[in-house]
Amino acid sequence: MSLINETPLVTRFAPSPTGSLHLGNARTALFSFLWARKSGGKFILRIEDTDSERSEARFRDQLMDDMRWLGLDWDEGPDVGGPSAPYSQAERGEFYRRLFAELASRGAAYPCYCTAEELELSRKLQRMSGKPPRYAGTCRALTDAQRAERERRGSSSTLRFAIPENQIIEFTDVVHGPQRFASNDIGDFIIRREDGTPAFFFCNAVDDSAMGVTHVLRGDDHLTNTPRQIMLLNALGMRCPDYGHVGLLLGEDGAPLSKRHGSTSAHEFRERGFLSIAVLNHLFRLGHTSDVEDWLPLAEMAPHFRPQHLGRAPARFEQSQLLHWQKVSLEQLSAEAIGLWLGADDPTQFIELVRHNVMLPADAVAWRAVLRGELAPLGAEEQRIVAAAGTDFFAAAADAYEQSNADLKSLTGILKQRTGRKGADLFMPLRIALTGQAHGPELAPLLKLMAPQMVRRRLLSHAQNP
Ligand code: GLU
Ligand code: ZN
Repeated sequence: MSLINETPLVTRFAPSPTGSLHLGNARTALFSFLWARKSGGKFILRIEDTDSERSEARFRDQLMDDMRWLGLDWDEGPDVGGPSAPYSQAERGEFYRRLFAELASRGAAYPCYCTAEELELSRKLQRMSGKPPRYAGTCRALTDAQRAERERRGSSSTLRFAIPENQIIEFTDVVHGPQRFASNDIGDFIIRREDGTPAFFFCNAVDDSAMGVTHVLRGDDHLTNTPRQIMLLNALGMRCPDYGHVGLLLGEDGAPLSKRHGSTSAHEFRERGFLSIAVLNHLFRLGHTSDVEDWLPLAEMAPHFRPQHLGRAPARFEQSQLLHWQKVSLEQLSAEAIGLWLGADDPTQFIELVRHNVMLPADAVAWRAVLRGELAPLGAEEQRIVAAAGTDFFAAAADAYEQSNADLKSLTGILKQRTGRKGADLFMPLRIALTGQAHGPELAPLLKLMAPQMVRRRLLSHAQNP
């Protein structure tokens, strides 16, 4: 690991607590976390909760809890503090007010008194004349006297950023490469809402800068916001971070990952019993080509994270891939850890037997029933195999069981002699009669764990015509 050659970077994850941690955001958080760790730098968690209507404390708590479950620990954040505290935007009003005043005093921002209807009408007119709708700059030209007059009348206002004219904004996006925007194409945008709260463009940009963030990774949907944010920071004389915009996360059908694809939040996968390291191994390879294809523990992902190999194209979340990583991840666990994960106080013998046949704790339910309960009705293929073996086969099997002392080898030896069957023709019907399934854990130890009474009952149930 050559951490020595890297400059320590400061990255961040800046979720809005308006819902639970979406997998797309979890991936962005992972990449940001890894980038900081790879460079020996810092990873910051900032809560973007200026929208008081949609932000909720329970979402913030759950976000933080799910981040911790994933193992994406932050060096600075709302709970751990740090030199740039506070880390919740709702608590940073004073800082924003200072910057608003500064921008206004320099003429880089101005109050806008336009009503919603006036703005709508203006947009309509622009569209009709074939121009892209943007703020026409109506209030930019107001004189001090005119502004004072509006204030006297009690008109409410927003604060708009005055876009500098005839500027070209260029930056190199970490993912998308060189970008070029003309300031004349961008309308003066709102940085303070009517109710006094800061708009996203504003607080997001100034906080990144003020918190010393050097590298911003975020979703593609923010790429076109970036020139606005750069102009804002320039106007304030604040340092601009580097930006990288990662592709969207899609479902298997190519549509943006959403509820109709099933689980979409880290929390849901956690509740279903997916291991965080399985989720991380899938996310690590979504839109990112690492030099390692094998399973990695989180601590070893950082040196193999390659920001220059982040893809522009949208990535697809695939259930089958996640299950693959789940299987590999489960294999790393001790029987004790598997027992905790199953969460049902199972005997060790049971855990050792079924651990390779379960992907999720829910899968163990069926195996518990195999050992101590009723079997589910047979599937069509299983019924066919049982019927083909015939009733005499199972009568003979029940007999052989009595003579074999629950030893599978001697049972099958006797049964082979009596019926002339061997191989799969002998094993399959036996397994299906005993477990209800054609596949599963090793049969010999399973047989030893089964109550003799239950074994007899299961074999004899096929020994007569139903
Ligand atoms: N709160 C913003 C979001 O969740 C942050 C965007 C960014 O990372 O800059 O979309
Ligand atoms: Zn206006």
